[in-house]
Amino acid sequence: MIERAHAAVQQVKPAVRRAWHGHVRRRAVDDTTRSATRTCVVVAPHPDDETFGCGATIARKTAAGTTVDVIVVTDGRASHRSDRIAPDELADIRTRELHTATRALGMPDGHVHQLGVRDGELIPSRRQVRDELADRLLDLAPDDVLVTSGLDWHDDHRVTSEIVREIFPALRLGTELVEFPIWWWADGPWPMRPPGASVPVRALRLVGDPLRALGGPRPRAVATDGFLDCKRAAISAYASQTTNLTGEPGWAVLDDAWIEQFCGPVELFLPVT
Ligand SMILES: [Zn+2]
Repeated sequence: MIERAHAAVQQVKPAVRRAWHGHVRRRAVDDTTRSATRTCVVVAPHPDDETFGCGATIARKTAAGTTVDVIVVTDGRASHRSDRIAPDELADIRTRELHTATRALGMPDGHVHQLGVRDGELIPSRRQVRDELADRLLDLAPDDVLVTSGLDWHDDHRVTSEIVREIFPALRLGTELVEFPIWWWADGPWPMRPPGASVPVRALRLVGDPLRALGGPRPRAVATDGFLDCKRAAISAYASQTTNLTGEPGWAVLDDAWIEQFCGPVELFLPVT
C-alpha cells in the first residue's frame, strides 16, 4: 500500500514541479537589463551553488564588463563519503572545479574568494564566517549581494542566508540583497527536511509552506538567453557533482533532469525586504 502510494507520488511529481515552476516564473518581474550593469557579490555555501543559482546572470554581467565577485564559504569536502578519495583531496578537486567553472562564466581567478570553512562545520564557525563575510562585503561594496535562499531545506544554505541578512544592514546604502533558490526550486516549496520538526508541525508546513510561497514579494527574473552555453560549460566543470567520479555505488550524482531545472529561460532571485 505504502509502496503504491509512493509510486503514485513519484509519478505526479514532475507535473506538480512544472506547474510550480510555471507559477513562480509568471509572478516574476524582468530584471535582465538592470541586472547586467550592477556589480555584485555572490555568496555561495558550497562550490557550485554560484553556478546553478546564477551562472547565466554572472556570465551576462561579465560580458557587459560588470565586476562580479564570488565568495564560497565552505570547501565542499563533505559532499561525498568515499573509500577512494579523502576529504582533503575532494576539497582540492572542488576548488579546481570552482576556478574552471567561474572562468567559463568570464570571471578572473582574482575575483573568486574562498573562506575555507570545512564543509559540515559552518554552524560552529558561524561567528567567524559572519566577521569575515562582513569585512569582505564592506571592502567590495557591490551594488547587489546574491546569496542562497533561506527557503532552501539545506542547513548550510539557510544559515548562509541568515548570516548575510545579519550583516546586511552594515553595508553601504544602496546595496540590494536578493536570494537565489537552489533546493526550494529543485524540490518545490515543500518542507523536505525541516530541522527538528515534529510530525504535526511537518504536516502543517506541508500545507502552509506552499500557500506562503504563492504570495510574498514578486521574484526578479534574469533571462538566460545567450548565456546558457557558458552556464552549461560551468556546470560540466563540476564533475565531482555531476558524474560518478570514483565509480562507487554510493556516489550521489546530480542527474540531467535535476540540472535541467537550472537551465531554463530565466534565473530567479527573491528580493529580501
Ligand atoms: Zn550548496
